[in-house]
Amino acid sequence: MTEAGCLFCKISSGEINADVIFEADDVIAFRDINPQAPTHVLIIPRRHISTINDLVESDADIVGQLYLAARDIAGKEEIADAGYRAVMNCNAGAGQTVFHVHLHLLGGRNFTWPPG
Ligand code: 5GP
Ligand code: ZN
Repeated sequence: MTEAGCLFCKISSGEINADVIFEADDVIAFRDINPQAPTHVLIIPRRHISTINDLVESDADIVGQLYLAARDIAGKEEIADAGYRAVMNCNAGAGQTVFHVHLHLLGGRNFTWPPG
């Protein structure tokens, strides 16, 4: 369920503090410590999954829950209408630095495409 030494497992269990803004049975969300936009929230499964590559068929529900949480948080943060990014980096080449899957929810400013 948890992986020793995993930062986000420790945040999920409360061992390490974070600015938690959403909690459900299987999902938790907290503000990014180094925000890249006025709203920058990380939405994670409580259960440890390292990368998108490690997802299995039975994880379909939890992945859906991450996006439903993003929808709800975007509404509460009042970024839903203007628009936001919901993005998951996979492995180092895409910029993943914490190897516990997390959905970045970014909003409150305009974004360009393609991303850097
Ligand atoms: P990644 O680069 O893996 O896609 O995203 C990891 C994110 O976790 C980064 O945006 C980084 O700022 C954030 N982060 C790293 N350490 C901490 C921490 O201790 N607390 C919080 N709230 N965010 C963190
Ligand atoms: Zn973990």
